[in-house]
Amino acid sequence: MEIALLILSGILLVGLVASVTAAFFALKNAKAERVRFDELAESVFDYKMDWTEDLSEVTFGENLKRLLVSCGIAPDKKYVQSVFGNDMEGADGGMSLCVNAVRRSGVISEYYSAVGISGLIHWKSVSVTQPNGRIKVYSLGRDISDEMVSRKITEQLRQQVMEEFEYISTASSNADAGILAFITEGTSVYMKTSAHICALMGFENTDTIHLDQFLSMVKKEDVLVVQRQINRFISGESDALYVEASVKTSLGIYHTFTLECKYNKGAIDYQHLRTGMIFDITVSRMNREEAFKDTQRDPITGLYNRNGFMIEGGEYLSKGKDEDERIILICIQVIKLRKISMLFGIEVTDTLSKLYAETLTRVAGENAVVGKVGVEDYALMLRCESEEEAEVLLKRVSIVVESFCNNETLPSVLKEQSGFIAGACFHNSTDDISVFFNKASVTLFSGVRKPGKICSFFDEKIEKAVSGRNIVEHEIGEALKLGELELYYQPKISIKTGDIVGAEALMRWNHKTQGLIMPNEFIHVAEEMEIITKIDEWGMLQACIQNKLWQEKGYDPIKISVNMSQAQLYQTDVVASVTNALNESGIDPGCLEVELTETMAMIDIDRTISILYSLKDLGVSISMDDFGTGYSSLSSLKILPIDLIKIDRSLVYDIETNVTARCITKAIVDLGKAMDLTVLAEGVETEHQKELLDELGCDIIQGYLYSKPQPAAVIERMFLIPAAERKKEKQRQKEISQV
Ligand code: C2E
Ligand code: CA
Ligand code: CA
Repeated sequence: MEIALLILSGILLVGLVASVTAAFFALKNAKAERVRFDELAESVFDYKMDWTEDLSEVTFGENLKRLLVSCGIAPDKKYVQSVFGNDMEGADGGMSLCVNAVRRSGVISEYYSAVGISGLIHWKSVSVTQPNGRIKVYSLGRDISDEMVSRKITEQLRQQVMEEFEYISTASSNADAGILAFITEGTSVYMKTSAHICALMGFENTDTIHLDQFLSMVKKEDVLVVQRQINRFISGESDALYVEASVKTSLGIYHTFTLECKYNKGAIDYQHLRTGMIFDITVSRMNREEAFKDTQRDPITGLYNRNGFMIEGGEYLSKGKDEDERIILICIQVIKLRKISMLFGIEVTDTLSKLYAETLTRVAGENAVVGKVGVEDYALMLRCESEEEAEVLLKRVSIVVESFCNNETLPSVLKEQSGFIAGACFHNSTDDISVFFNKASVTLFSGVRKPGKICSFFDEKIEKAVSGRNIVEHEIGEALKLGELELYYQPKISIKTGDIVGAEALMRWNHKTQGLIMPNEFIHVAEEMEIITKIDEWGMLQACIQNKLWQEKGYDPIKISVNMSQAQLYQTDVVASVTNALNESGIDPGCLEVELTETMAMIDIDRTISILYSLKDLGVSISMDDFGTGYSSLSSLKILPIDLIKIDRSLVYDIETNVTARCITKAIVDLGKAMDLTVLAEGVETEHQKELLDELGCDIIQGYLYSKPQPAAVIERMFLIPAAERKKEKQRQKEISQV
């Protein structure tokens, strides 16, 4: 009887999913199916609406209706126009609305309720051609507002958030989508999805796919993460699933899908059935990659981008060689352009970038190649008769850029933030374009990295530094094998108690002839050579073993943090190497923290989310390093499972003298507090900086004020507290207070 019931309920459930799928894609207008689809959509996402291209039919889900009514907005076609209307052309309805909705699948709308609560909805849309040829758009919205936080952030940050979300969602904009269901029968798990996604994977649309069968089609490197995330979701361990998988289709090529499900107890999910959506993001991802690859121009300034500059510059060089001309390459970095973008928004930065571009193009003259080769970087390649002429030219560039930075019309705070450094190099007949470019850029970095308007020429000293790089390139591989790498540790101190709460592990290279080499000189080279993954793996294990050793010696436990490189995050199974380090050292996962930067995290945000959640599952903490230098956005903090923010040294450095730096620091601390994160300030060197950070509400301090990074033995002697001693001290304090 039970078995019969089970089979019957199995059939019913499969039927249920099939009917939901059919309702979505075949667009039958039966009322019951519509209600079910609305319910399902709103249980997986938060809001839903569907509408025809001419807006003659507009239907809102119940949640959305309730929200709009509470905000005093009528749930009608005007609302659809207000969300997806093109700002530039006015909300004209019709096809351009559909195109906007689907193409810019990361549209964000804002709402303000009568009681003053504001919020943001992030919309994803799918368009479906109906049998009558008309297009219907299904828009699913997720509530991304956190009332407390959204009220706290400043307008500039809000602007930044919008930009950021736009970017993230373009990355995952859906070319195709379907409903996804997981059905559990005993110990077996089956999947069911829409007809065309089934067909893509080589199944009949009535098929239910066994999870193992699906996993066998997933790309090898993704399988573990996908399997783990799905199992956690199905077993109820996690109430949401968000995972990206490359799946081999019936044509033998890989498509990338995102699986997004949310378990909502109150709604229509059942114990044996979990539902959500599957998005085929292959096309949008390819488009994005193509867009990045194809273009040789910077879209804002119209100058060559780095790729274009290398191609065009290469041709310029070979022509120059033929005609026996002297060629000079000048690299210019406009300092803090990133920071300006954070303070004044992307539009101001774009306007400034354009102005710099126009100015440089004018100075360089007609016969030059001018490029915007990085966020803050420009490059000019020109012909020069003599070194004297080059000097004059460089001076001219300096004067123009400098006067530009000091332009009367710029707000004073902008002037304070601006400045540039420049480096130049004469072409030597044997160098190809990349060597030439590298020489000019190292010259750029040979000066003090402050807006000091430093212009320098490539010379012997710099040549030596470059050859230092060659040493690194040739010997870093051996360093690990020869045992020349060592971890130093820098204490992290609680601002309230003054006690050590953790330490950051920082790599050093004891080179046999060069002496101690700092990470800034070898980590990026190791990264380019991919040996970084081995180095990081070694560092992770060493740090855990060292921490365990300290605990075994009877010191109060502290948390060790380890830096993760981009390569480690994306090119290795970092979850496996952390698991290995934990197992081999026997350390409690709560005593390990992994540091990553936001820039790294944003490269493939979906993947980062999935990896970080797996690390969190192990019990390891995660901190966002160098915060305040990259995107510094609310969105990354909101979607990544972070425990701690590390405010970058460059902000702390300026905090005593620069009001803007202090304001940004305060905004970051407030943001962190509102999101329940611990906030640490890096690079604290003076008592006054510490006091200011204390006033702003920072929790932890790291910097030379307490200690430079030191070998383990020094940290042990100077900072670690034997647990027994602490117990005695506590007892003593207790006795004193009783007397
Ligand atoms: P980071 O992660 O931002 O590390 C902090 C850096 O700031 C360290 O430089 C530290 O010595 C320095 N610092 C700390 N307090 C102060 C201060 O008060 N004043 C000043 N002027 N500097 C301070 P370090 O050790 O040279 O490391 C540089 C970078 O190299 C690190 O930046 C990190 O990105 C990278 N790195 C270091 N070790 C590793 C590693 O094992 N793996 C990876 N992937 N990267 C590493
Ligand atoms: Ca770090
Ligand atoms: Ca840092």
